[in-house]
Amino acid sequence: MIDREKLSTEELIRFLDEKDSIKIEELLTTAYNIKVKNIGSKVYLRGLIELSNICSKNCLYCGLRHANSNVVRYELSQEQVLDAAMFAWKANYGSLVLQAGERRGSSYTKQITRLVRKIKALSNGELGITLSLGEQSKEVFQEWFDAGAHRYLLRIESSNPDLYSKIHPQDAHHSWERRVKALLDLKEVGYQTGTGVMIGLPYQSSLDLAKDLLFMKEIGIHMVGMGPYLTHSETPLSKIVHKNQGLELTLKMVALLRILMPKINIAATTAMQVIDPEGREKAVLSGANVIMPNMTISQVRKDYQIYENKPGIEDDAAISKSKLEENLKNRGIEIGWSEWGDSKAF
Ligand code: SAM
Ligand code: SF4
Repeated sequence: MIDREKLSTEELIRFLDEKDSIKIEELLTTAYNIKVKNIGSKVYLRGLIELSNICSKNCLYCGLRHANSNVVRYELSQEQVLDAAMFAWKANYGSLVLQAGERRGSSYTKQITRLVRKIKALSNGELGITLSLGEQSKEVFQEWFDAGAHRYLLRIESSNPDLYSKIHPQDAHHSWERRVKALLDLKEVGYQTGTGVMIGLPYQSSLDLAKDLLFMKEIGIHMVGMGPYLTHSETPLSKIVHKNQGLELTLKMVALLRILMPKINIAATTAMQVIDPEGREKAVLSGANVIMPNMTISQVRKDYQIYENKPGIEDDAAISKSKLEENLKNRGIEIGWSEWGDSKAF
């Protein structure tokens, strides 16, 4: 039996480094049982719409970084986003995630505000809206919250400021302290606040990952989306040789987080599906309870490649939806249709 209260940094590292497959299986099953006991066995779906790949930042790992001139930049029209939102609503998805590169400025802020209001109006307030639009001022977070967004995802990427500085340019636009401040601002405004980290980064140790888990607990986060780091050959970080960790380390992270935080929402992310076609389903069986199927129109999916080998770039929303439902059904996993699936930790 794993005792949550006794999961010290050393214990966490021991689990993260565990090689014995029986002990690993035990950990994943314990986490699954804790999830079922605390929040039930259902999986909640959030339709993911990748609004735009335009980004002002230069994170060293991301294919969308500003300096990558090979990317064909796009921005969906309000009409295209509303069509995708309508599809998600009619398909009984309880909520949406609107994600994009990071942009600032008052006309951009207002554009998002209008979009959030319109999505709320078209679904009679039924579609929940999660934003993932990077670091913004507290005033902007407030404006979007007032317009109807109620969840926000902003990964800390790594809770170790030294590691953060190795995977971001050394300038004022990429500050670990500012990212933490943004997370605290989001909580204060009243969002269900999500964060997360990349797993298997160059320079990252098991101690870093253990501390990531404890950081998420200490900051009192409501939702987490974490996944394996995957390379993109047009980024500086891809030139650093590192050991590919496979899915197992990510599953251990999901399981340990579920044990530490039994009531939060944990996403089974697309990056898990890249290293294992059934990665997301395996994560659900290790404690995750949210999946974000891609609802972005197929014409632009190939241009939103934060890493290479992104799955389903040829698919449209209907195909992504039916493939996922089929996979979940085959594994006996029930979907929470038309439910917001709010974090029980909120
Ligand atoms: N621009 C916003 C931001 O950075 O918060 C939201 C979009 S960004 C593409 C979403 C997430 O993608 C980031 O938080 C990062 O963790 C993840 N990401 C970017 N490049 C990645 C890579 N090469 N491998 C795995 N995840 C990556
Ligand atoms: Fe931009 Fe987000 Fe990619 Fe960083 S991770 S380059 S902020 S899209």
